[in-house]
Amino acid sequence: MPECTNCGNQVEESDNFCSNCGEPQNATAQNQLDQKIATRANQQAGSSQSTSQRSQRDEIIERASYAVGFIFVVSAISVLPSLGGVFTLLGGILLFPPVRQLSARVFGSPLKVEFNAAVAVVLMLLGTAIHYLV
Ligand SMILES: [Zn+2]
Repeated sequence: MPECTNCGNQVEESDNFCSNCGEPQNATAQNQLDQKIATRANQQAGSSQSTSQRSQRDEIIERASYAVGFIFVVSAISVLPSLGGVFTLLGGILLFPPVRQLSARVFGSPLKVEFNAAVAVVLMLLGTAIHYLV
């Protein structure tokens, strides 16, 4: 009976891998193992790449949210105490990322940034309309 080249455990002639240590016992098994490892490595490389891309997108959204939220708040304060300014102020505050994180505690999951942006724009338009019409 042949012995494992790695640990010396007795293996069957038909065994591709050692039952004791898992060492491949022939060239075919070695190729299979190499391919499996290469596939696994590629999958991990791919998934970590998409993760970093997503976090980069989140970072851009966060910075944009701060910038636009800041513009909203500043323009709102400039027209206070007009009622229109109050709406725009609310919209601007809603855009700040920490507010979205707070919403995660209330609703279980953070509000979608698209949803927040839409609400903020509606509040801003409403505020502008009220400011000029009233
Ligand atoms: Zn072995």
